[in-house]
Amino acid sequence: MSLELDRRLADVGTRFRIFPQPRFLMKADGSGPLFAEPELVIVSIEPAAMRPGPGDDRMFVVDAIGKLPYNNFFRPPFRGTKRDPIQPDSEGHFDHLDPATREFSAATMYATVRRVLDIWEDYFGRTIHWHFESDFDRLELIPLIEWNNAQSGYGFLEFGFGRSPNGTIDHTRPYCENFDVLAHELGHSIIFAEVGAPASRQDEGIDYGGMHESAGDLVAIVSSLHFHSVVDHLLESTRGNLLTINGLDRVGELSDSREIRVAFNAMRMSDVGDEPHERSLPLTGAIFDTMVEVFQHDLVAKKLITDDLRIRSTNLPGTAQDLDEIQAEFTAAYTGSEDAFKESLLRARDYLGRLLAVTWSAISADFLTYHGILRAILQADREITGGENAQIIRECFAWREIAPVPTSMLLRPHTLASCGFQANDSGSAAASPRDRLLPDPRPNGSATTSAHL
Ligand SMILES: [Zn+2]
Repeated sequence: MSLELDRRLADVGTRFRIFPQPRFLMKADGSGPLFAEPELVIVSIEPAAMRPGPGDDRMFVVDAIGKLPYNNFFRPPFRGTKRDPIQPDSEGHFDHLDPATREFSAATMYATVRRVLDIWEDYFGRTIHWHFESDFDRLELIPLIEWNNAQSGYGFLEFGFGRSPNGTIDHTRPYCENFDVLAHELGHSIIFAEVGAPASRQDEGIDYGGMHESAGDLVAIVSSLHFHSVVDHLLESTRGNLLTINGLDRVGELSDSREIRVAFNAMRMSDVGDEPHERSLPLTGAIFDTMVEVFQHDLVAKKLITDDLRIRSTNLPGTAQDLDEIQAEFTAAYTGSEDAFKESLLRARDYLGRLLAVTWSAISADFLTYHGILRAILQADREITGGENAQIIRECFAWREIAPVPTSMLLRPHTLASCGFQANDSGSAAASPRDRLLPDPRPNGSATTSAHL
């Protein structure tokens, strides 16, 4: 979401507080939680338009009592007993809730999902209509059920708690307060709404499954880069040296965040199998790398780093010496230019959000391949920038080994013979009607070259 829109919403929207990352992420020195205080967020709905829950015209919280998880026979809407809806303060806002209360957790679930939807509807430039709109108009949000799991399904998100090492419910880890988990699940809903699902039973959907998980992670990563505390922490730890392939050790305490670990992965296609989470990694890496490269090109354009440093940080020779030297140069460049680095990163974030929205609007779920996604991304970049970042995209995807599969018909050469341009050995020319329309290119009418067209 652009900074301008974010500022505009601040004047008209409804205030909530949410934790940017789970409270169980600790500082490296063990002195306390990494994000001890919840951060103020403003959702796009005006206080006067809020509905009980909290809720609005797209989603609502139901704090169900004694509810079992939904399954094939038990589906929304929830008709059982529920707690009273959470009340706003006298001005219609919800940022007064105490983080130690159940009310805070329930309000957080609404605020997180609404905020992520606001961000992505801005990138799409339009309403994202739910994939379950033929049955329900609103998404049902159920926080805090007694379950050591969470699930997103047709018309609902219902969240329990994390699991202790022996498998029991860990009440200190409510999933509904975990921004990354909620944003990831909403990412799946966005893909169902915008890309759909494969129609044919012959379609194994292997790359489709990887794309789904990748989209969940990318929605979470891009959304979490809307928290000033997360962006500041990321830049402070790395000094803007965001190269992902060996960058995880530079992100400090944030490396305990699942989404950061996913963004900073070094997997290529030859490292992964068909399991969707595993298969998602090279695609997520290629797309996140694209954002980092766009960020670094912007730093060069603003003369904050040299092009030489950008190239060296991209094409690492791989020795520790060089890495230290590169980091020292980034630290020198970052110091005193913190605001300019942040502005470049937020611009790159918004480019990536828009790039993904245009791409997801264009691709079909049927027989989807990563190579097809790459081509849709190149097309999206042409629409957004006139193709400025085409080479960056090609290189990031090439490093991850995302290319046409060896059996792809895209790789099949067409010879003159297969195109019907060549006479057979007996000299009876013009096997196809097209031959009769074209002059014979052979000097003496007998050459048998099979040039690849
Ligand atoms: Zn997922």
